[in-house]
Amino acid sequence: MVIVLLGPPGAGKGTQCKRIAEKYKLVHLSSGDILRLHRANGTELGKKAAEYMDSGKLVPDQLIIEMMACAIESAKGNCVLDGFPRTVVQAKELDIALDAKKRKIDAIVDLVIDDSVIENRMTGRRSCPACGTVYHVETLKPKLSGICDSCGVKLVQRTDDKPEVVRQRLETYHQQTAAVTGYYADKGHTILDIDAGKSVDEVTAKMIEKLDRLSMVR
Ligand code: AMP
Repeated sequence: MVIVLLGPPGAGKGTQCKRIAEKYKLVHLSSGDILRLHRANGTELGKKAAEYMDSGKLVPDQLIIEMMACAIESAKGNCVLDGFPRTVVQAKELDIALDAKKRKIDAIVDLVIDDSVIENRMTGRRSCPACGTVYHVETLKPKLSGICDSCGVKLVQRTDDKPEVVRQRLETYHQQTAAVTGYYADKGHTILDIDAGKSVDEVTAKMIEKLDRLSMVR
């Protein structure tokens, strides 16, 4: 089963994907997390991606596509995709990679939210450098201030969650990523729109309700 989660940066894709992965026993594949791991490990890909990521721009398609095709293969096609595809080129290449393995996208979810809400969310976001769990200084606090609940590691603010980078990332989203939704709609996919301005639990509940309903009509 392949689920694609779309939506702007800061819509809560990472948090929701973790929950969806747990619920449907899928592997959570976050292109951003995989890239951050490459950077932490100092790989060639990580070095190439760094400059784009820190300025809020997209990493070139050819670097991402191969990386994600390998990750999907390792997950044997049982995955929820977070942050990928982010361009129409990536979406087309994903279709080709899935077709080649006789797989398909089973559900597409789009987290819908205003830019102003996102700016507040992202600049208040703190994440665990060890496990990637995301918190927020106001709305999703860890039990112990500034410390990851699972790892006990000090939380950090990602360079790309700083205000000027957040604005660039939103611009990038509107210029390059928003079109992915249209690409899937044109191909006849049902897109499950979810109001991502609600609380984390409400968004999860709505997603699960819509995903369950979708699998019942199949
Ligand atoms: P994320 O954690 O998903 O917000 O991703 C962080 C950064 O990684 C983005 O701002 C991009 O620079 C890069 N990135 C992640 N996924 C992709 C993708 N599918 N295509 C291009 N760049 C990506």
